[in-house]
Amino acid sequence: LGSAALALSMAACSGDGAGSGGNDSDQPGDLTIGVSMPTQTSERWIADGNSVKEKLEAKGYQVDLQYAGDDIPTQSQQVDQMITRGADVLIIAAIDGTALSGQLQAAADADIPVIAYDRLIRDSPNVDFYVSFDNYKVGVAQATALLVGLGVQTKDGARGEAKGPFNIELFAGSLDDNNAHFFFDGAMDTLKPFIDDGTLKVTSGQTNIEQVAILRWQQEAAQKRMEDLLTSSYTGGTKVDGVLSPYDGLSRGIITALQNAGYKGADFPVVTGQDAEIASVKLIDDGVQSSTIFKDTRLLAEQAVVAAEAFLTDKAPEANDTETYNNGVKVVPSYLLPVQTVFKDDIKPVLIDSGYFTAEEVAAGQ
Ligand code: BGC
Repeated sequence: LGSAALALSMAACSGDGAGSGGNDSDQPGDLTIGVSMPTQTSERWIADGNSVKEKLEAKGYQVDLQYAGDDIPTQSQQVDQMITRGADVLIIAAIDGTALSGQLQAAADADIPVIAYDRLIRDSPNVDFYVSFDNYKVGVAQATALLVGLGVQTKDGARGEAKGPFNIELFAGSLDDNNAHFFFDGAMDTLKPFIDDGTLKVTSGQTNIEQVAILRWQQEAAQKRMEDLLTSSYTGGTKVDGVLSPYDGLSRGIITALQNAGYKGADFPVVTGQDAEIASVKLIDDGVQSSTIFKDTRLLAEQAVVAAEAFLTDKAPEANDTETYNNGVKVVPSYLLPVQTVFKDDIKPVLIDSGYFTAEEVAAGQ
């Protein structure tokens, strides 16, 4: 081919696929996938980043993986750099779901498809696909685990022996994370009948997400809020029976506050969680934390890679949900994975037998 003909044929290739950064003539080694992760303070995001990178590299792609230290300007800058360095697809787990519109517009202008990873990116038409877990069901599972832990409900959904009333407190995640709202909605829809009939009592009266949210999902902030609740609402012998916590890091802060206040042994409140972080799995094994929700990040990484490859070959990734995730501008086609509740008895079959952790890691808590 002469150079003019080559240029023409390249233009034809790159012009057809709506929003595709790659084209059929590219080899994997010529293609770069930008992977933007929020933070390394939680081990799940490290596992996510590593899994996505390994799986893409195994297929021969170049990977530009960045962590933003939970700082919004840093994430914006990192995504900008991925675009200027010529990323062909972006995979982004946003810190603040509404803060990346400018970056996403630049990506769209450069014909780079964007995959929202785990957390939906809001208020932008330029989100091409969403891979996540069923986040509403995470909340339902957390609330159900609280009910089961208290004995109000059995694992198969029947009414349990325990009648209450039980004193509980509620926590939610970071308000700028779209998932936090789905978790809380799922949990509150599940708990509400039990609050309404008096089985559960939120002693502090704090039941709105704005009152119970923890900015950036910080463990220390959760510990502080639990300490404040104990001082303000648990005087004169009133005891906490259960705490709805949406994330293991928050759960550990809450547990520390409860332990410092003297809670221990069989009277220790039922505390829920999410992510099956190793330190929390040990706490569950030791009978301190009651449960966590396991989301297999290996499977999520796999789905992100499948979606990225589809875009790179000018195909639309396969969605299994095209209704739920309206980002304020459009409904983003999604691939949602199921979640599993883990109590002490589930650690071996769910986490160890699947190779997620070894028995030694669980015993050591790291
Ligand atoms: C994720 C959770 C995680 C939380 C804090 C959420 O967006 O879905 O798995 O616990 O962020 O990192």
